[in-house]
Amino acid sequence: MTRTEITTPDALPDESVVELSLRPQRLAEFIGQAKVKDSLRIWIDAALARREPLDHALFFGPPGLGKTTLAELIARELGVNVRTTSGPALEKPGDLVGTLTNLRAGDILFIDEIHRLRPIIEEFLYPAMEDFKIDIRLSEGPKAQTITMPIERFTLIGATTRFGMLTPPMRARFGIIERLNYYPAEDLEQIVVRSAEVLKVAIDADGAREIARRARGTPRVANRLLRRVRDYAQVRAQGAITRDVAGELLRMIDVDEFGLDDMDARILKTIIEKFEGGPVGLGSVGTAVGEDESTIEEVYEPFLVQNGFLQLTPRGRVATVKAYEHFGYAPPRLL
Ligand code: ADP
Repeated sequence: MTRTEITTPDALPDESVVELSLRPQRLAEFIGQAKVKDSLRIWIDAALARREPLDHALFFGPPGLGKTTLAELIARELGVNVRTTSGPALEKPGDLVGTLTNLRAGDILFIDEIHRLRPIIEEFLYPAMEDFKIDIRLSEGPKAQTITMPIERFTLIGATTRFGMLTPPMRARFGIIERLNYYPAEDLEQIVVRSAEVLKVAIDADGAREIARRARGTPRVANRLLRRVRDYAQVRAQGAITRDVAGELLRMIDVDEFGLDDMDARILKTIIEKFEGGPVGLGSVGTAVGEDESTIEEVYEPFLVQNGFLQLTPRGRVATVKAYEHFGYAPPRLL
């Protein structure tokens, strides 16, 4: 596993089984994000009391922060089934007909990467979300006959890393919209301790803290680091994770002090080297590092800003003194 794979917040192909076992099952076990949790508790209790389906809900924020986990635990809290799909997996409305007609009252349809739905699917979903009916085309072509079919009142839960790319009519159809933020190290520490219990590995408080503070504010990364440290501890340290053991492994796999990944580093170094530290526009940064502008804006920048490496000014992005020092550059005098 390379360093980039360890710190990338995106899910890796072989990760789903482990993630499943590490996912909190109930809202009370979901650590951190107090604001989101408090409001969800109210919406869930209200829906249960009224015996009505939950309003359609949208979770947005960087990858690995718990959007899928929340969708699944909401289903458990409500005692309903959840069907999962994702924006890019749906090619034509027909792909959803079976799922939608099989949903029982109150069930949840979870659509990951909902900003990547094709327009034709979005349009098909609008009446489903609003009036709980779908239009089925019986043949192809402009004069095709359609029939309208009622479906049960269900809840659509959408997840996206790019709130800005969601179309306004789609956004308007969600009654609950919650943003997930990066986790402070204290919360990640609790997540590491909990995951260590699930994985049955001994860890002390300092060991958990060391992993937490290098996990890029992201539970998925924290769990991934924990698993690597566990392997290392098993082979080198009789299985117990301490700060030293965690520190040794993290140094070995090159996870830096702040858990910055390759793309974080490239963004900052580009701003410093090619644009004299900024201010520089998002478009220029994107072109220089070869990454999609909205990914930079919604996946990378929030973490860099929150941790004081980058400033967003009206004139553009500016690398901070901390960024200069972190990468061993002398800060410019005028900063
Ligand atoms: P997303 O859908 O936002 O990409 P996931 O819901 O798949 O993220 O979460 C990634 C992993 O992080 C899950 O396996 C889960 O175990 C863990 N996780 C996320 N949020 C929390 C949390 N608040 N408490 C404990 N574990 C969490």
